[in-house]
Amino acid sequence: MSLANQSDLLREAQAGGYAVGAFNVFNLETAQAVVAAAEAEHSPVILLMYDSHLDHFGVEESAALGRMLAEKAQVPVAVHLDHGASFARVVRCIRAGYTSVMYDGSRLPFDENVAATRRIVEIAHHVDVSVEGEIGHVGRAAEGEERIEEWLTRPREAADFVEATGVDCLAVAIGNAHGFYREEPKLDFARLEAINRLVDVPLVLHGSSGIPEADLRRAIELGIRKVNVGTETLTAFGAALRDSLAQTSGPIRGLGQLSDARAVMQGRVQSYMQIFGSSGKA
Ligand SMILES: [Zn+2]
Repeated sequence: MSLANQSDLLREAQAGGYAVGAFNVFNLETAQAVVAAAEAEHSPVILLMYDSHLDHFGVEESAALGRMLAEKAQVPVAVHLDHGASFARVVRCIRAGYTSVMYDGSRLPFDENVAATRRIVEIAHHVDVSVEGEIGHVGRAAEGEERIEEWLTRPREAADFVEATGVDCLAVAIGNAHGFYREEPKLDFARLEAINRLVDVPLVLHGSSGIPEADLRRAIELGIRKVNVGTETLTAFGAALRDSLAQTSGPIRGLGQLSDARAVMQGRVQSYMQIFGSSGKA
């Protein structure tokens, strides 16, 4: 019933002053957990397919599954490529039926990132697929705080990037990082405010697992409209599966345990939706 365009979801979030959760999924059960959470919370949601997870999940398989779950869902669901690493990958995802794609050229020099992202925007917009870009670089928490600071998004550059590429939303580096934080992350709210003043497309926060709840809420007040979560919810899924399997004996192991793990992940996703303010918005 409800395959959604990510841009529409984020525009509504902008008007309503909340953020839409985008949750990494890599198989049937994790995708079902996210959609079930959205239905339980009456929330819009974005299924995030991380580029390198597609080596396991499959490009066409993930698109078909995401679209099927979306069409059956009682709430709007978008199907999004997370951190598309190459032109070839992005184009194949568009062809497979993704409703939006991220192209991550954030490790490239500014001009090269602009050129590559712009080329993808031109193609995607012809077929009503929206595009997320990244300027500054959201690294991995394990790379250390010094690098994270070095890669922070510069507000003026963010505005120039959006203008030059035509992206529909923008991932920013404001002290956030992927994976488990070694120390509590300190978000640079003044920087976020400055970016939000200069940039008119919705802003995206990556690496949200481990950011304190109050900081997530503040970031949303200051203009974050899409919040990506992967580490925390997928780790919960894996841990629940491992624990459940450890308690089981018998000839067939796995089916009930996959259901148990799915239910645990659904609960985590619902908690995030409540923090993001998207509960009750669909
Ligand atoms: Zn990310």
